[in-house]
Amino acid sequence: MSEAEVDFSQVDHKLEQLYPQMEKHLLQLLSYPSVEAPSAGTGAPFGQAVADALSYCLELAESLGLPTTNADGYLGTADMRGSSPELVGVLSHLDVVPANANDWQTPPFSPQVRDGRIYGRGALDDKGPLIASLYAGIALRDTINHPLTKTVRFMFGCNEESGFGCLKYYLQHHQPPSIGFSPDAEFPLISGEKGICHFVLSSSWQSVQGAPLQICQITAGSAINIVPDRAEAVLELNGAELPDAAPQISLTREGNLLHIKATGKAAHASTPEEGDNALARLLAFLAQLPLEPSGASYYIRTLARLFADSCFGASLGVASEDEVSCLTVIPSVLALDAKGGTLRCDMRFPVTHTGDSYQQQLSSLAAQYQMQLQILELQEPMYAGTDNPVAKKLLQAYRDYTGDLSEPLVIGGGTYAKALPGFLAFGPEFAHTPKLCHQANEYITQKDLLDAAKIYSRAIYALAR
Ligand SMILES: [Zn+2]
Repeated sequence: MSEAEVDFSQVDHKLEQLYPQMEKHLLQLLSYPSVEAPSAGTGAPFGQAVADALSYCLELAESLGLPTTNADGYLGTADMRGSSPELVGVLSHLDVVPANANDWQTPPFSPQVRDGRIYGRGALDDKGPLIASLYAGIALRDTINHPLTKTVRFMFGCNEESGFGCLKYYLQHHQPPSIGFSPDAEFPLISGEKGICHFVLSSSWQSVQGAPLQICQITAGSAINIVPDRAEAVLELNGAELPDAAPQISLTREGNLLHIKATGKAAHASTPEEGDNALARLLAFLAQLPLEPSGASYYIRTLARLFADSCFGASLGVASEDEVSCLTVIPSVLALDAKGGTLRCDMRFPVTHTGDSYQQQLSSLAAQYQMQLQILELQEPMYAGTDNPVAKKLLQAYRDYTGDLSEPLVIGGGTYAKALPGFLAFGPEFAHTPKLCHQANEYITQKDLLDAAKIYSRAIYALAR
């Protein structure tokens, strides 16, 4: 069967006809508060709401004529059978990040359509694209009226947001498709995802007493992958003069105690330049105080020097880049008391590099400054060069529909595609889409939902024909 035999204007028309039904099903799916929760027993490893969202989704797929499977509540599948058993995967997810209802104009799990926008937690990440890609397959099937060559397996993960437990479980028990896409990022295509290294630099010391400006405690940061927007230190004055405040540093005296608060701006660790690191600011401020020599002051001064560049690793000595990506590294979470300190850091390295060289650089750095290094997580990068056949087909599907010739993107990393060889992250966000993933008042526009479905139908055809 040749390309010319599929008239995509007919597939598009079919999708327009199906749109009201597609939107109705998306609104129903959005009403499940499928945030990860403790296991609710067999078949619900990530809590009852996630399991219910999966059941809903599988019933929907069955009603559309697709046979389904449920891998014990970790991941569900729905197959659009082709003439061969060879598989193409479309991997999306049903779990969502928590939503603080106070920050939302309308309740996050009572989805609403306003001004052409579908509001609800998960509208963009990732229930909207899940429904769009599913209907893209259905519209294609119902228009061409014969099976594609390959079987298209829609895969609904249940734990993308917190550790990929769904995919890990599925891969232990099933053979995954060898090619496919994950509609869980941006158009035109994500061709590379940086490597990720989460590490800890810690030190311990003998507690001293009575020294002027003695550091008692520091707390900063909430998560390793977030640029901290607040950092606080408590010092004992012990007769020292009150230091001068500085921009975005406030000082409060309480008897012999001095409270120092630094503020900044939060951002995701993959784009630290969009934030302003309060912890780096606090470290720099503390380092210039006349602190007595001690384990704590040595640790603080070392960290202040190493993270003077709080985005790109220049002061840490690990700055690097390749043709398409550059390294980022941030100090994210610091806990320090009278006996020791622990700093957690998030590093993202270029897509053509490997993790071991960075691991070595970090170990020698830790040894040089008498700190302990612990690697919490090391994910190698993923990069599909311009010759990658899946990348070519996906990019062409986007370009055919939009006429936009923008080049593929390389991101800080972390989508499903990195964990599944042969898969690439593809849409649903367009260049014009506001960055609302994980934010309050998340929405997808009706137009973008339909446009994404039209692009996905071209992509599914190109991979499965
Ligand atoms: Zn997602």
